[in-house]
Amino acid sequence: MAGRRTFTMIKPEAVAAGHAGKILDLIISRGFRIVAMKYTRLSHKEAGAFYAVHQERPFYGELVDYMASGPIYAAILEKDNAVEDFRKLVGATDPANAEAGTIRKQFAESKAKNAVHGSDSDDNALIEGHFFFSSRECY
Ligand code: UDP
Ligand code: MG
Repeated sequence: MAGRRTFTMIKPEAVAAGHAGKILDLIISRGFRIVAMKYTRLSHKEAGAFYAVHQERPFYGELVDYMASGPIYAAILEKDNAVEDFRKLVGATDPANAEAGTIRKQFAESKAKNAVHGSDSDDNALIEGHFFFSSRECY
């Protein structure tokens, strides 16, 4: 059975552009419950560790620089079929390919600066959630 939790970040450019409130409103209105949330900033080292799975990809260096460039919102979200349903709400990596109504279609600046992160599996949702939150920060 699919898990009930996923992990998201509202990325630096979306926070800087003032989109965080609208994005959170959309997430909540689609039935996701906030289990944990914080406003924080990744150090360069932390961003590198978070995205270590992508370290062989050509965009890794830029991705790490970008994710450490400003504050973000990090959150654990809960809903039935959370990972898949949230990926649908987020939309394709490149906003040019994202469907109407998705977060990236509405708020992403580019394929790199694409407004939000969404976990791609139940296992990664758990790992990513633990990267930011202890169990006593989850409600
Ligand atoms: N990314 C990028 N260039 C690419 C592909 C990805 O800058 O060609 C960035 C983008 O910010 C993306 C992140 O790296 O969200 C992680 O890539 P992934 O393929 O996991 O995309 P996602 O799961 O976020 O849709
Ligand atoms: Mg991904």
